[in-house]
Amino acid sequence: DIRKKYASNISHELRTPISTLKSHIEAIMDGLWEASPEHLSILMNEINRLATLVDDLKDSFNLDEDSISLNKTTFNLSEDINNIIISFTPRLRKNNISIAQNIEDDINVYMDRDKIKQVMYNILENSIKYLDENGKISISLKIFTKDRITIRVMDNGIGIREEHLPFIFDRFYRADESRSKETGGSGLGLSIAKSIIKAHDGEIGVNSVYGEGSEFIIDLPLNST
Ligand code: ADP
Repeated sequence: DIRKKYASNISHELRTPISTLKSHIEAIMDGLWEASPEHLSILMNEINRLATLVDDLKDSFNLDEDSISLNKTTFNLSEDINNIIISFTPRLRKNNISIAQNIEDDINVYMDRDKIKQVMYNILENSIKYLDENGKISISLKIFTKDRITIRVMDNGIGIREEHLPFIFDRFYRADESRSKETGGSGLGLSIAKSIIKAHDGEIGVNSVYGEGSEFIIDLPLNST
């Protein structure tokens, strides 16, 4: 059943940008729509969306909880999170988003570094995507007990309606129709994040109030076996 649903979700997700491309190109060929740079850039956006979707799909296939393979090393997670925040700074400035960070120094962990970074990117990307005016994000990393850490990413964005909360970590699930269309995500980011955190024996959860904001909480063992 899961496989069937997955296949039908995939074809549904791929069909929309493909049919947009098809009808627009037909209109150009029929002389009904001018092949101006402006029009071509609309088509290019659809192609980019397809490319993102295919990349996300590849990750999500590779990240099935039971088959996911981790390449663990010891690294300084505090430094990595600080660097990720720095890499987002130009976009935050451009969109007038303020960020408060509370990153405990020198937390060394034994995890799959690239995959944990990907989780942070997915969650931060979302916080930015679903912000309104006067956006604020806060991010913290703390030792929770002597062998566990907690990462929290909070935003004062659009929030998530209660009825959507149980599903937002499902593949392809997108809660806010209009905003989701506008932002053009794939609905895969959080499902990928969840698979990665689960593979590290961790937990990921969300608190959210519609219209007020959301908080994503990740709890991980410092050294997962
Ligand atoms: P998407 O590509 O749609 O962003 P995700 O799997 O990353 O897919 O997220 C699933 C859905 O959860 C999103 O479509 C959005 O409706 C909701 N969501 C995720 N993060 C946030 C957030 N920080 N604020 C509000 N809604 C969010």
